[in-house]
Amino acid sequence: MEEVVSAERARYDFKKTMQEIVDIRGRGTELISLYVPASKQVFDAMAYLRDEYSQSSNIKSKTTMKNVQGAIDSIMSRLKTYKTIPPNGIAIFCGEIPRAGDQTRMVQFVINPPEAITAFLYRCDSQFYLDPLKGMLLDKKSYGLIVIDRNECTIGLLTGNRIETLKHFDSLIMGKHRQGGQSSVRFERLIEIAAHEYYKRVAESATDLFLNRPEMEGILIGGPGYTKDFFFREGYLHHELQKKVIDTFDTGYTDEYGLKELVENAKNSIQDMGLVKEKSLVQRLFGEIRKQDGGLSSYGEEEVRSALSMGAVDTLLVSEGLNRRRIEVECDNGHRYEVTVHKGKDENAVCNVCGDGVTVLRNEDIVDDFFEKAEAFNTRVEIISTDSEEGQMLLTAFGGIAAVLRYKVA
Ligand code: ZN
Repeated sequence: MEEVVSAERARYDFKKTMQEIVDIRGRGTELISLYVPASKQVFDAMAYLRDEYSQSSNIKSKTTMKNVQGAIDSIMSRLKTYKTIPPNGIAIFCGEIPRAGDQTRMVQFVINPPEAITAFLYRCDSQFYLDPLKGMLLDKKSYGLIVIDRNECTIGLLTGNRIETLKHFDSLIMGKHRQGGQSSVRFERLIEIAAHEYYKRVAESATDLFLNRPEMEGILIGGPGYTKDFFFREGYLHHELQKKVIDTFDTGYTDEYGLKELVENAKNSIQDMGLVKEKSLVQRLFGEIRKQDGGLSSYGEEEVRSALSMGAVDTLLVSEGLNRRRIEVECDNGHRYEVTVHKGKDENAVCNVCGDGVTVLRNEDIVDDFFEKAEAFNTRVEIISTDSEEGQMLLTAFGGIAAVLRYKVA
């Protein structure tokens, strides 16, 4: 079973990693940025890196040379773990960054970008080179497009305003002519079998083309007649894709032009979908909170965490403005516990129980911590921006973490 990261999490992780990388500065010209598009073979990229490695022996400063070579080495071992480059390419950032005193430490970030990397690029500088990724942030959401009737099908992708045709094929159903001696019942039956096979082929292509795009916001299905609805209703699509279908829309065509019609006709549905969706999610929560017994609501970190661990959470709402990390620590006396700290604050210096020094066993963004716990119970997670009044209220009045429950918990 392929691992499918939700669009929500992919977007959050991308944004967060970008924030982490953008301010990093190296001591010298020794931070390496590598962009590899999907069209590049892994061994080509490796050959390029080996070449850079040998050229780096000309660097005058012994420390810089050592650091550059260390970074190239580290990138190569990461790259080696890929059989092929993922559909949108990958970007790797690696190098020694300053620590206290004269120390440095090696960092490496791997980004699976939400849009395709178009050009191979290697750069060694005193900071990471992020320009190719900057335009990709957030709002250019992408949608899968399928236009289908019984004759043909076209599959495409909408990213921002760009429509890309990914695949087109004919059904060949009508090519099966009735043979002499065949009964019309049998003929009808053959046609239905052919149609079924055709829908299956469409669905398999959709799986190939869409399943590895976690950033994809939704799928739009179009076509002139009832075929599109039949295709959707009968559940031919992979279940992860089926969940993403926004709606079906009438179009006159099922070719490349049909994709344009589909986007045009679905525009109202996808316009501002992000913010409208966020607002309605928070309103649903507020609706529960307003009920006399608190309805199916839960809010505040500890309360939500406990409901989540019981599997009682249907939808988890987490504010993007939440600036905290979840850490697990252990002291020399064996006291081990988890605690939430504000980002950048070092509240983990001493043990809560005995006051001795502690070792940090795990340290991650609190949102990732919640994502992981939610995945275990098939709980839906929604990151809520602070761009709407509702989003602001979630952060300020409800601590930035709230949930709509599946059932009431005591
Ligand atoms: Zn202790």
